[in-house]
This record gives sequence, structure tokens and C-alpha cells, in this order.
Amino acid sequence: MIIYGIDFGGTNLRIGEVNPETGKLLKKSFSVPMNTIKTNNELTQIILSQVGNAEKIGISAAGNVDEKNLIIKMSPNSRIKEHITFGKTLKEKGFDVVMTNDMKAAVQGVARFGEGKKYNNVLVATYSSGFNCAVTRDKINTTAAELSHIIYKQNSDLFCGCGGIGHLDTYVSGNGAASMAKQYFFITKQTNHTIMKLSLEEYNKKKNSKYTLEDLKKSDVFALIVTSITSKHVYGAYSSNPNQEPQKHIKNIQVEAIAASFGTMVSAFNPLDVMVLMGSQTKDWDILFKTAIKKYESSKTQYQLATLEKPKIIKTNLSDIGIIGAVAYYIITKTCKLSNK
Ligand SMILES: [Zn+2]
Repeated sequence: MIIYGIDFGGTNLRIGEVNPETGKLLKKSFSVPMNTIKTNNELTQIILSQVGNAEKIGISAAGNVDEKNLIIKMSPNSRIKEHITFGKTLKEKGFDVVMTNDMKAAVQGVARFGEGKKYNNVLVATYSSGFNCAVTRDKINTTAAELSHIIYKQNSDLFCGCGGIGHLDTYVSGNGAASMAKQYFFITKQTNHTIMKLSLEEYNKKKNSKYTLEDLKKSDVFALIVTSITSKHVYGAYSSNPNQEPQKHIKNIQVEAIAASFGTMVSAFNPLDVMVLMGSQTKDWDILFKTAIKKYESSKTQYQLATLEKPKIIKTNLSDIGIIGAVAYYIITKTCKLSNK
């Protein structure tokens, strides 16, 4: 038996055939950038051309998912601005379809096939452009948490992507690192800086342009390059020059916030046996997470009640976690339905 997994992600649409016993992909997954798909019809045609005569399909989707009606109500990076309906269409065409949001799918993938296999209480947390987490107990989803937009710092002046101020999401996420760096450059107007160089290089590569450091003296080019700063540039600069601002300060703020996020998750979801971390921020594991874990583990009372157990904290090795998670969520949904009958 084979189950198809569809990962309707933030950046790419990915589709793969998964062995439901092992969680392994049968061949390399199909992938297409999300921003090339403009209509529901286009999207459905692409998916139909990939799933062939598959019977069982699990879908993991970034955004606001209506699991019952198999509709994605809103997905932040998709160019389709109405309800996204390929799940419903697949079902109408006779496929057996289960759909959920990307966090619930990811934690299923980790609990069934990944680092959480041997544990009862598994939490998966994503630290990428944003932050979020979800929990399974005995392989059953117990929450699709929205812990990201709680207040982490009162009297903060940092805006969150959601429009709020001082949210945990801003302090632990890639968007937060970028936003702090942007503020620094808009205020100081510095041009001769590693972060600016890295942002400039990437902009030129992406847009096929040939701006030089000299061009940064023009205010429109300067604004363009500051706006294009990402956390990758911030931590790239940190690796080569850890004592320079603003990366030194941004790193310290994020390490502290990440340590606090561990304590917050344990406080909300105790007991937890293992916390499995994923997302683009974890690429800078040594800079951010190694230090944050050390901080968290060596503190008795700062981040959580001292008597609560601290879970093991690791990074996931699962690639294609969206596809695998979609399939794992399909399996658990079907298993629960059978046992309820
Ligand atoms: Zn927020």
C-alpha cells in the first residue's frame, strides 16, 4: 500500500509517494515553487498529473485549514487569494483525502516516523520566518497550538508580522532577526557592513541586477537592500564577525528568547518527553540553539517551575517532513475513525 503526501507549504508545493510502514519516500518528491501557481484550476491540474491513480492522499497545508470541508481558507504565501479547493476537488473525483495544517502534520511525522517514535509526549516546534508548535500524546494530536503570538516582552517596540507588539514570534523567528537588523540600518544609514554586503549579493543574484556597494549611497537602492535583509544575512555576518553590531545584540536577544520559549512550551504542555525542533533558524544551530539549550538547561527557576521535567531537545533529521507528516496524519485519522466505529 502507498499513500501520497502533498505538502502545500509556504514556498513550494511538494508531492511524494510514501511507504506508510517506514515513512520513507519511494522516489524523489515532485516540487514546484508556490509563486508560479495563480489559480485553483492550475493547482488542481498540477496535483492530478502527479497523483495518478493513487487512492489515499494526505495533505499538509500552511495557513488556515478547514479539515472537514478540505479547504484552505487562507495561505499567506499563495497567489490564489480565494479559498483553495484542490482537496475538495480530489475528494469529489473519488480520492480518499485527509487534510490538516502543517504543524499538526509535522508533529505526526516526527511522532510516527522520526525522532519522537519512542516517546509518548512529543512536541515539534518550528523556528523559521515565524514560530509555532504542536503536541502529540500517544501519537494523537492534542493541540494545534498558536503559542507564537503571546506577549513575550511588555513595553516592547518591535512589531510582529501579525500587527501586535512584543510577541514571542518576533523574538525567536527569522523575521524578528531581520526586522531588528533593518531598524539598525535605517537608523544608522551604514552601508559598509557585512549584513548589507550579503543582502546586496543575494538581491543581485535573485533579480539579476548589478548594484555595487557604491550604489548604496543612493537612497532608493539603499532602501531596497535594507528591506531585503533576512536572518540568513544576520547570522552569516555573526559567523564572520560575532562582536560587531547589530548581529551581536540580535543574537543575544534571540538566544534568550529561544531559551524562554522552551520554558513557555513546557509550562503550557507539561509533560513533554522530547522537543523536536525544525525550521530555517535551526540551520544556525550552534549560534542560536546550542547556546539557548545550555542556558535553559542550566537554569533552575528562570524559564519554568523548577519541579517540571525538562524534555530532551533535538533537531529533526527528517527531510520532506511536510509530505511524510501529511501521510502520518492520514494514517492516524483513519485509525481513530476505525476504532470509533
Ligand atoms: Zn504576533
